[in-house]
Amino acid sequence: MAAARYFSASYSEARRRFRAAAEAAGATLSAREHPMKGPAGETLATDIARIGPADASRILGIGSGTHGVEGYCGSGIQTALLSEGFARDLPPETALVLIHAINPYGFAWDRRVNEDNVDLNRNFLDHSKPHPQNAGYEALFDAINPRDLAPETMAASRARMKAYAAEHGPAAMQHALTAGQYDHPGGVQYGGREPVWSNRTLRAIIREQMGTAERIAFLDMHSGLGVRGEGEIICTEPESSSTFKRMRRWWGDRVRSTVGGGSLSSNVPGSITVCFADELKGREVTAGGLEFGTVPIGEVTVALQADNWLHQNGGAKNPQAAAIAKQIRDAFYVDESDWKEAVTAQARKVCAEALTGLSE
Ligand SMILES: [Zn+2]
Repeated sequence: MAAARYFSASYSEARRRFRAAAEAAGATLSAREHPMKGPAGETLATDIARIGPADASRILGIGSGTHGVEGYCGSGIQTALLSEGFARDLPPETALVLIHAINPYGFAWDRRVNEDNVDLNRNFLDHSKPHPQNAGYEALFDAINPRDLAPETMAASRARMKAYAAEHGPAAMQHALTAGQYDHPGGVQYGGREPVWSNRTLRAIIREQMGTAERIAFLDMHSGLGVRGEGEIICTEPESSSTFKRMRRWWGDRVRSTVGGGSLSSNVPGSITVCFADELKGREVTAGGLEFGTVPIGEVTVALQADNWLHQNGGAKNPQAAAIAKQIRDAFYVDESDWKEAVTAQARKVCAEALTGLSE
């Protein structure tokens, strides 16, 4: 199907092509503009394309760019779906809602985090309550956040993390590194202390687009975890939950729960699925991530460390900015045709199965 042609080389190109594909598919388009600009002074926005009846009782939502730079993957998939006619034969009473660039700042600036250095997928929690603690992160703070990127500093960082994994197990190491922290705004994996722009904006979009529906499915496109080109559907509820069981019925054993260790992902607080549950209380909500593997996890980790170091040391003004932006893009987006074909084919199938599931 030559899906590679739907993938873009920048946020602004991705936005333009998404909107053009949505218009050609007959979608109703809207946008929520971000207060900041992109690197070329371009407008940043979360765009919403809706196809189907205004009063649809069933909704399939598909999101991209929650993790900024991962939008290269998710946007390509969304534009492919629109261009290939995925929305042409929706089941009765069903609408498709595509949410493009949930974190447009991170997408445009080639960062996984947002304008506040916040990992948006750790920000959807009740900020009036005490924030979760991550003891492993605290113990490994200097290793996770190296003071410079010199080879010997990075080697020492790797050695510390390897020793921690040997002592406490690889799952504890992954949890320390990826489960977020709420005490160091300048550190890797900061979850924020209040709802950030993308959190508030997504909640408003959910209320506006999905508020009257009874059955809602949402798939958030991610990249960077797992085997190159292979997809996993991430459920943040335990295996005993009705949500997990329904997800297994729809999608089979590609569905893995983060609770109990079956998933590639740690059980992280404040993930995006929380806000769907919050905003759509009393409705049937089937929300999860669709995560695609890119490069080995060690490379992803180093890219995240380099990105965070960069933005504590001058950001775009640092002479290493362009090289580190490329490093992080390459960690979360494989700019090769076979990978784009593989992720699009899987997403197409998973989304079609979601429509069938919503009709059951
Ligand atoms: Zn992600």
